[in-house]
Amino acid sequence: MSTRLPVFIDPIQLVQAGISLEGQVELAMLERLSAQLTDNSGMVQVSLKFDQEHQYKVVRGHLKTHLNLQCQRCLESFDFPVEREIALGIVAGEEEARRLPDYLEPLLLTSSDMPLNDIIEDELLLAIPLGQTHPQGECEIAYNETSLKSLAEAKQPSKSQQAFAVLSQLKHSKRKN
Ligand SMILES: [Zn+2]
Repeated sequence: MSTRLPVFIDPIQLVQAGISLEGQVELAMLERLSAQLTDNSGMVQVSLKFDQEHQYKVVRGHLKTHLNLQCQRCLESFDFPVEREIALGIVAGEEEARRLPDYLEPLLLTSSDMPLNDIIEDELLLAIPLGQTHPQGECEIAYNETSLKSLAEAKQPSKSQQAFAVLSQLKHSKRKN
């Protein structure tokens, strides 16, 4: 059973009310993600629970979908199943983000009207591996280290991949503090 997901959410209010959200989002609604897909038909199953855990306002849940990605080795499309667990701590700024425990990734509260799809989309973008390829043995171009190496050398990272690298560095530096 799936209910309609709200377009905008007030994460703090949802935490205070202990709300659970279940539903589906069309991949085609997620523009930044769609740009990385060979086919954006399909749905994301969304399940989120907003709750207070000790002093933290937390969003937990999971996303389940199939993404059609382009193999970076043979350039053909392949099916990439995604099941992503979500554990976010709602924060108002960088200071608060640093104080989150390791098991929570920061969700920056930008307004009391946050587009729910943005949160879902960010998580799915993070689920896409860099230099994604067919699972081993399923690619038309046989795996061999020489071709893989030259491919890696030839490949320029896209802007969004660079953005992810920055993001993961930020998260990493947060953990060290
Ligand atoms: Zn391939």
